[in-house]
Amino acid sequence: MRKWMGLILGTVMGCSAMAQTGVLNLYSARHYPTDEALYSDFTKATGIKINRVDSDDAGILARLKTEGSASPADVILLVDAARLWKGEVEGLFLPVQSKILESAVPAQLRAKPADAGGTAWFGLSTRARVVVYDKLKVPRPEVDTYEKLAEPQNKGRLCIRSGSHPYNLSLFGAMTEHLGPAKTELWLKGLVDNMARSPKGGDTDQIKAVASGECAVAVTNTYYLARLMRSSNPAEKALLDRVGVVFPNQASWGTHINIAGGAVARYSKNTESAVKFLEYLVSPEAQNHFANGNNEWPVVPGLKLDNPALKSMTGGAFKSELLPISAVGMNQIKVQQMLDRVGFK
Ligand code: FE
Repeated sequence: MRKWMGLILGTVMGCSAMAQTGVLNLYSARHYPTDEALYSDFTKATGIKINRVDSDDAGILARLKTEGSASPADVILLVDAARLWKGEVEGLFLPVQSKILESAVPAQLRAKPADAGGTAWFGLSTRARVVVYDKLKVPRPEVDTYEKLAEPQNKGRLCIRSGSHPYNLSLFGAMTEHLGPAKTELWLKGLVDNMARSPKGGDTDQIKAVASGECAVAVTNTYYLARLMRSSNPAEKALLDRVGVVFPNQASWGTHINIAGGAVARYSKNTESAVKFLEYLVSPEAQNHFANGNNEWPVVPGLKLDNPALKSMTGGAFKSELLPISAVGMNQIKVQQMLDRVGFK
């Protein structure tokens, strides 16, 4: 808070900064209405208006490519590490230097520093990729690691969205770091052998399939679970009656986490304001709002998170993997080739 207040004051009182009205063009894959208030607070504090273009991660990257140097984009917000990495290697982001961002965002949750200095993207919130299971059919110890999902006891039980979806590419990219490529490919083959049905739908559909008894085990990001837990619709809440949640690998490397993150667009004409906006998003106030609004965790260490759904899921805290998230992105081409070889749709 203090850091950001200092920034606001600096902006209000500094002579050059007074002229900082204007517009920031934000390309965002965050489609969460709760972010709205955040953007208006930024505008109130700085006079800088946010003009938002909504699309999904792939749509935004494609658009930036097509627009090239004519792109009006200033800030990019995406919701997956592999996509952020892709934007970086395709040269769509402008690496930036910011003491505020570097001290707020742990090193493993941002891009590796560019050769010329600067960082191409920063994680802004984290989500965990967890296992859900049918409490009526599955003993919890049979699904408490990612490795076990490929073991014979889970034959015919598993539901999971497409292997090529970024959330899974990132999970499998992390597994490649933990197990090495050969063991990971065997593991992927084991997942395919254990599937209750061919991959289809999003994460919520997998939770629903466990609730209905079609599948006994599934994989989902935590915020989809938290959304159901906090739903005002009793039928949605009831979906979770027989669904158990496991944060896998607590006894080994920890549960896989992914990030939502931000970058400055390569051809931004407002880089100073763009950096300021990213800095604003790591202020404690923004972090809480930003993460909590979509039931995620802040990236800034030590912030208290007041989210009953996340608390009830974890019992307070959990062990998350500490891989550099950029390595996860780097593995995605290798992972896609493995998926093709083992017939993981
Ligand atoms: Fe999602």
